[in-house]
Amino acid sequence: MTDPDALAERKMQFLFALRSRGVTEPAVLTAMEQVDRGLFVRGLFAERAYEDTPLPIACGQTISQPSVVGLMTQALEVTSRDKVLEVGTGSGYQAAILSHLARRVYTVDRHKRLVQEARGVFDQLGIVNITSLISDGSFGLPDQAPFDKIIVTAAAEDPPGPLLAQLKIGGIMVVPVGQSDAVQSLIRVRKTENGLDYDELRSVRFVPLLEGVAREND
Ligand code: SAH
Repeated sequence: MTDPDALAERKMQFLFALRSRGVTEPAVLTAMEQVDRGLFVRGLFAERAYEDTPLPIACGQTISQPSVVGLMTQALEVTSRDKVLEVGTGSGYQAAILSHLARRVYTVDRHKRLVQEARGVFDQLGIVNITSLISDGSFGLPDQAPFDKIIVTAAAEDPPGPLLAQLKIGGIMVVPVGQSDAVQSLIRVRKTENGLDYDELRSVRFVPLLEGVAREND
C-alpha cells in the first residue's frame, strides 16, 4: 500500500468504523488515530491493518478487532494518573493505545517472541512509558501492584483472583470471561470499599488465557 491518498482514505474509514461501533470517547479516538495499527501487523495481513477485524500475529495469537480494543479502552476510563496492567501483550497494539492515555503501562505476555517484537515497535514509536515483561499474567505483577486499571486481553474462565487482589479500591478491570472455544462475555469489574461490582458489556471472542510461560517453540 504505497499510495498516500489510499492510505489516508483507509485511515479515515477506520476511524469512521470505530465511531459507528460505539467508540465515542474523544481521548480514545485520538489515541487510536495516533497509533498506526499497520506497524503491529506483519506480512500478508499488514494490507488489512485498517479493517475492523482481528488478524493473525506470531505464535498462533491474534491482534484484537480495533472496535473491541476501543470499547475495552473506553470501559477502563483511563486517566493520565493511572498505572495500568495489561495481560496479553500480543502485538503490543492495545498497550500502545493505553500508553497515550495512562501514566504508565505494564504489559505481560507468556510468549517471549511477542514481547520482543512489541518492544521493537514501542521503541520505533518512541514510547517510553510501557514496561513489557515475559510472564504468566494470571498472577499479575505483585511487585508493581496495586494498579488503577487492569485489562485482560485473553479469555479466562473466571476473573483471576490475583488480578482482583492487585486492583486498587476505585479501580476497574476489564476481562473477557467464558470458555475459550465459545463466545465469551466482556465483563467490567469495579472494586469499591464494599466489594466488587460486575457489569457485562457485550459478547466477544478472545484466545484463551493459558497457564505458564510458553516454551521457546510453542
Ligand atoms: N492485546 C493484544 C492481543 C492479545 S491476544 C494486542 O493488542 O495485540 C492474547 C495474548 O494473551 C496472546 O499474545 C497470548 O500469548 C497472551 N496470553 C495468554 N495467556 C496468557 C497468560 N497466562 N499470561 C500472559 N499472556 C497470556
